[in-house]
Amino acid sequence: MIAPIIRIQDVSKRFGELTVLDKLSFDVAPGEKLALIGPSGSGKTTILRLLMTLETPTDGLVLVDGEPLFHKRQGDALVPADERHLHRMREKIGMVFQHFNLFPHKSVCENVCLAPVLTQGVKPADAKRRAMELLDMVGLSAKVDAMPAQLSGGQKQRVAIARALALSPKIMLFDEVTSALDPELVEEVLNVMHMLARETDMTMLLVTHEMGFAHDFADRVLFFDRGRIVEEGAPEEIFKNPRQERTQTFLRKVV
Ligand code: ADP
Repeated sequence: MIAPIIRIQDVSKRFGELTVLDKLSFDVAPGEKLALIGPSGSGKTTILRLLMTLETPTDGLVLVDGEPLFHKRQGDALVPADERHLHRMREKIGMVFQHFNLFPHKSVCENVCLAPVLTQGVKPADAKRRAMELLDMVGLSAKVDAMPAQLSGGQKQRVAIARALALSPKIMLFDEVTSALDPELVEEVLNVMHMLARETDMTMLLVTHEMGFAHDFADRVLFFDRGRIVEEGAPEEIFKNPRQERTQTFLRKVV
């Protein structure tokens, strides 16, 4: 069997009294396209945030490419690995957020160029060339000099995708990337993600309420409830023939 690119093993996350992830375990194979679905508050976003080291788990093991993102120190508490190690790990993972998070005072092109120049030491001219290619790929060649405020939500989100891709990550995380968009702008973003899923060997994890898209996009679907995986399987199984009652109830409500 091929080694997993992501391993989540017995991971718990508590905020005070609230248990958000409850001894969660799953592996992701290199190149796999995974959809994380389930009710609001079931812990899906927290998993992506752990992988970005934006959160620290209360317990358990998170491995990316076989290496831990967190270590045990100071009694039993977990802490993020040292900065140098994390820098290397973060380069492997790109994330696209619900609210775009573009730099408002930088042009589209600068938004895409900045991180490779600052964090990877890429020469500005090379970063610009790559940015133009990526912006072309997401259909925004005409907007390279525009400012974020001049763009529609769908265009902003496509810039955010290009920006994450500029660091050439092995893993891309998408957190509800269409839920802040007007309905008529959703499709242009989903089309870009479809193209990435079909044409690249990146590992992709998608948190979404778009069940139709999850069905078409994913190799495997994980259904979460209260910080646990209740059911997982191929999209055809989960969407057409869910075994668990909680999955059935959820899908009846959202589809
Ligand atoms: P989902 O993505 O499935 O909607 P989340 O992972 O965003 O779920 O959140 C799971 C739960 O954790 C929610 O109840 C949320 O309110 C809580 N939560 C998330 N972040 C924090 C935080 N920093 N402090 C306290 N509670 C939080």
